[in-house]
Amino acid sequence: MLKIDQIWKNILLEAEAKTTTLAYDLYINSLSPVGIYRDRLILLAETRAIKNIVDNNYKEVLKKCTNTVFPSIADVEIIIEEELENLGSVQREVDIPVSPNYVNDTEDKVSFVSQYTFENFVVGKSNEYAHAVARAVADNPGTKYNPVFIWGGVGLGKTHLMHAIGNSLQRNFPEKRIMYVTCDQFVNEFIESIHSNEPNATKNFRAKYRKLDVLMMDDVQFLANKEGTQEEMFHTFNELYLADKQIILSSDRPPKEIKIEERLKTRFATGVIADIQPPNLETRIAILQKKCSNKGYSLNIKVLTLIAEKITNNIREMEGMLNRIISYSTLVGGDPNDMNLVQDALKDYADASSDIITIDQVVKATCEYFRVKREDLIGKKKNKEIVVPRQICIYLICDILGQSVPLASIGEYFGGRDHTTVMHARDKISEEIKTSDVTAAQVKDIRDKIYNR
Ligand code: ADP
Ligand code: MG
Repeated sequence: MLKIDQIWKNILLEAEAKTTTLAYDLYINSLSPVGIYRDRLILLAETRAIKNIVDNNYKEVLKKCTNTVFPSIADVEIIIEEELENLGSVQREVDIPVSPNYVNDTEDKVSFVSQYTFENFVVGKSNEYAHAVARAVADNPGTKYNPVFIWGGVGLGKTHLMHAIGNSLQRNFPEKRIMYVTCDQFVNEFIESIHSNEPNATKNFRAKYRKLDVLMMDDVQFLANKEGTQEEMFHTFNELYLADKQIILSSDRPPKEIKIEERLKTRFATGVIADIQPPNLETRIAILQKKCSNKGYSLNIKVLTLIAEKITNNIREMEGMLNRIISYSTLVGGDPNDMNLVQDALKDYADASSDIITIDQVVKATCEYFRVKREDLIGKKKNKEIVVPRQICIYLICDILGQSVPLASIGEYFGGRDHTTVMHARDKISEEIKTSDVTAAQVKDIRDKIYNR
């Protein structure tokens, strides 16, 4: 039986050799395998734009690459997230013939993203502590800092840091058994092991995780509402911890805010907790420079500053914008440092993301609804006529924009308030909606206003 990830890895190897670096980096490598449906390989694109580009330009070559390694897979289909629901049941594990091109990567061997190294990680004030802890653990696993808990908003480098630890450990301690899993992977594997017909499935699952020297689990906030897996994690944690094995966890929020059982929360918080905040402008520019030099792009500081000023709290998005400028300039055959071209490339970008709601829009709608001035809403005034709209506005921002905006940035937007103030406002309104019809109606009205722009 071959797992879908293993199949996809093999196709990527072929595609890397058969396509340009640009096509590979920007499009093909960004797809993720969903499964096999009949004789078709289903791949998920992050956006509709990527799906269209792949469909129009790279589908044939992808088909060829697939076919070269897996002769029985006849076709490739690219879908986007909203099409996932309509999909019949796909197989994530299949028994199919392979050609001699097939590379058998043993399943237990973890491979870390080779680009995600310490060398490629730009250190600034916002991440220096997390970086220092990660370095220390990579040099000295298991003894000093355990567990390590890294938290921060989406796209701020948590996964990068974990892979950097992995890459370094693999080089310096080749004998150690290191495992990196996403929390989702762990949950799925655990559930599969319970439902499996194999008599030893659960036992094997346990053994696999409890014999490790280093366990890294990414995005542990997804343990919320999964009681069975939490229990399993609790025992795995204890066993490794008591044996001085290194545990490294990441999450989009601190341990105390994850909705998991108390005893696991306490365990997660017993070691070092390091947060990563959104980087300042200078660091953002430095990160873009690093990405450019890694990818061989030559963009001048003016263009990089423009990107860094537009996107303030998500490095992945910043990279997306960078890639867009490069791919647009290749497409139209222009100079990526030409400001007119950059504006054109980003006009597209704004169109593509026009359904994404911004803090500004929420603030504007709230001000209009309550007839208050923007500078008062985000300012320091403490009278009731301002405080209530302000709290409702903060609640709506948290609710609509979710994890994409860290609480600290919301606080910053509202005149440099602390992230705990933001949390307090959010939680207060979230409670009030349940008890007060007036508040509930106000929130609903503003929300409608925002969506019916
Ligand atoms: P997270 O896991 O926190 O959502 P990632 O680790 O996936 O974020 O990072 C998103 C992107 O930003 C990756 O391409 C990563 O290489 C890049 N990145 C984040 N922080 C840094 C940094 N300090 N230096 C260089 N690249 C970074
Ligand atoms: Mg991540």
